[in-house]
Amino acid sequence: MENKCTKYEALFTFGNEDSLKEHLAVCEDCQKEQEIMDKVSQLLHEVRPYYREKRRSVVKLKAACAVFAILLSSVTLGVVNFNEDVSETIRYGNVLSAEDYGFPVDSYGFLMVE
Ligand SMILES: [Zn+2]
Repeated sequence: MENKCTKYEALFTFGNEDSLKEHLAVCEDCQKEQEIMDKVSQLLHEVRPYYREKRRSVVKLKAACAVFAILLSSVTLGVVNFNEDVSETIRYGNVLSAEDYGFPVDSYGFLMVE
């Protein structure tokens, strides 16, 4: 019984297309290998769009995360920058009362309204 030809892989990997074709013309084993390869590459071709779609949605997800992170940090920074109480608590350690601004206040620190 003849051994199965093992040249296909070597020719496919290292040989050029012509030497592979030449060998395929005379070798049945390698013709079968070629058929399998054709099926695999066909299968890969059919499957590839799904992979691409998947990868695109991953990119979308990453972009969404980045946008969310930017929004979150800008909201946080916005609170610090535009809310005086928060930024002054950070700067002076406590919130300045109305008295500190020179407004007339009662003993409880409330603004006096006449
Ligand atoms: Zn062969």
